[in-house]
Order: sequence, then structure tokens, then C-alpha cells
Amino acid sequence: MSDQPDGVREIRINPIVPSESVLVSTARGMRPRKAEDPAPRDTRKHVEKCPFCTGNEAMTPPTIAAWPDERDWEIRVVENLYPVLGDDSTSTNLVFGLQQAIDGYGRHEVMIDHAEHGIALHEMSEAHLTALLGMYRDRIESLYAADPRIQYVLVFKNFGPAAGASIPHTHSQVIAMPVVPENVYNEVVNSRRYFEKNRQCIFCSLVDEALTFEATIYDRDSGAVRRQISVGQYVIERGRHFVAIKPFASRYEWEIHILPLTHASDFTAISDAEREDLACVLRRAMARLDAVIGGAQYNFFLHSLPHNNEFEDCHDSYHWHLEICPRTSIPTGFELGSGLFVSTISPEEAAAQLRAVEL
Ligand SMILES: [Zn+2]
Ligand SMILES: [Zn+2]
Ligand SMILES: [Zn+2]
Repeated sequence: MSDQPDGVREIRINPIVPSESVLVSTARGMRPRKAEDPAPRDTRKHVEKCPFCTGNEAMTPPTIAAWPDERDWEIRVVENLYPVLGDDSTSTNLVFGLQQAIDGYGRHEVMIDHAEHGIALHEMSEAHLTALLGMYRDRIESLYAADPRIQYVLVFKNFGPAAGASIPHTHSQVIAMPVVPENVYNEVVNSRRYFEKNRQCIFCSLVDEALTFEATIYDRDSGAVRRQISVGQYVIERGRHFVAIKPFASRYEWEIHILPLTHASDFTAISDAEREDLACVLRRAMARLDAVIGGAQYNFFLHSLPHNNEFEDCHDSYHWHLEICPRTSIPTGFELGSGLFVSTISPEEAAAQLRAVEL
């Protein structure tokens, strides 16, 4: 049930990156165009001609890493045949960072996330997801170690044609870049500034707020209770070590962020117990998303403290996280022209719907 009044209309500033703001407007007129019948994602188990399906290993560059082993792999990493601005990377907002990355060095790997062609994240077992997260960590560490000029190793995933994935077989991408992508850079710099002022990690503050925030909003004229905000209204899923939240000012209507509950700046320092818990929180959050929006197509990004000298002092101020950005509507002219994202559902209501899914 919604406890929001009709026609909520407010501009919310992203507390971490203030240049990213969102207009939350539940009024009908602001409704962006739905992505009309987005091409459905490919749900087949095995596709004879797919280069990422088992039996077709010769169609890709050689294996860089595999789990559990190269012969009976369930996860397999190969060099990207169309590095950087090739294939499906161009249609995401990563393109700005990537364009800076193409001047000569950098590495671009493809991680085939699962042997099964069209499996969704929430359909994978937690043991598999735990292994996948371990593979992310291993590749990030190897790529940083391979070249001291690498400033950032970005892991991301485009899932479904609406998210710009041109290869339907489920996969992630790992890009070692000579620059820190702009969105990570802005987060690191802004959170450092916040820390210098408040001696506190802004992400930890947001997690605390998401878990405990409570407020009663009164009507200024009549004094009547206009809105009551209950505990944990932004929380979607909570594990022992991780929490999935709907950010207060999300760019995308169904955007979800997953963060460690205890402060941690670097994903690669994740423990085995934490990795298992993250697999569980991720799977459950994706299952909720899939149930609410019906076949989620999304981009997901892993944001972690860059391994470079410039940000060595940011371990206390930066907090790594996963951003999951489902693609459900096409940006309107208003959004493109103003740079302001529009959300026609309030983040509180979106979180309530995601929480309400019975798993
Ligand atoms: Zn395939
Ligand atoms: Zn923190
Ligand atoms: Zn981020």
C-alpha cells in the first residue's frame, strides 16, 4: 500500500554526486515513455551458434580464467574480441569514461557468467553467484597487478537488449582503464570532501539513515499529518553483511544499490563469508526486481576505490557498492535537455513494492 500523497513532486539531489538529481513526479503528465515492448531477452538454455555456449569455445579467444576448471567450466573469462568501444559498451553511460580509455592501453575482458545461455542472475544458485563474485575479485586484482598504469578496473554487466547487450548470452565485462571513470571519480572526490568536513563516511550515513530513518511530515497550514515515514523505508533486502537499498534520489525508477553494512572501501578485500552473503542479497534483490518489473533488463556497475596513488587517503571516506540500474523507460526530451532524471514513482513506493514480493 502506498502512503504517499497523490502527485508527489520534488527535486531530489543525489547526496553523493549533487550534479545528479532526480525529479520525482508522480503526476501523469511527467510520465516518460515506456520502452514499448522492448525486445524480450533470450531465455534459451543453449544456442548452437552462440560463441559463449559450451562446445563453441573455439569461437572465442583463449580462456584467461575459468571456474571450476577449463574443461567443465561454468564461468569463463576471455579477451573481448571487440575491445572497448566495440559491441555492447557503447549504449551505456560508460561511454564517456571509455572514450578516454582507448588511447593505447587498457584491457577488456568478457566474463561468461554462466554456461547456461539465457539464465538470469536470480536464477543462478548462490554457490554460483559466490564463485562469480570471486571471479570478479580475481580479475580485478590480476588486471591491477598486470600494469601499474592502470587506474581503475571496472566490472559491469548489461543484461537484455533494453540495456544494450548485443550478445544475448549472459556475461559481464571487465575493463582495465588508464583513467578513473567520471562517475567513480566524482563519488570518490565528493565523499572525501564530505569526510573532511564531517569525519564520517557519507555512504555509512546513508545506510544508517536507510535503516533507521523515521519521520512525520505535517501539513504546514492545517497541522495535519501529511506523511508518515516508517523505519527502514529504503531497505529492500538485508543480509548479515550487506544491505540492498533504493536510494533516496535514484536516477532510475527501480535502481537498487547494494552496500556492505560495515564500512569497506575496496571490493577486492571481501571475505569469503561476506561474498556468500552478497550472493544471497544480490540474488534476492534481483528476484524482487524481476517479479515487480517483469523480466528485468538492466545495467550493473561495481564501484570500488581505485587502486591508485591519488586516492590512497580515501579508505575511510569511500565505500564500495554495486549499482543496479534497470532500464524501464526511454529518456524523455525533458530528461535529455535538462540532465534531470525523472521518476514517476517515488523511491519509497518503489522500495515498498520490492519489499512486498514474497520470495
Ligand atoms: Zn550462449
Ligand atoms: Zn562507509
Ligand atoms: Zn557508485
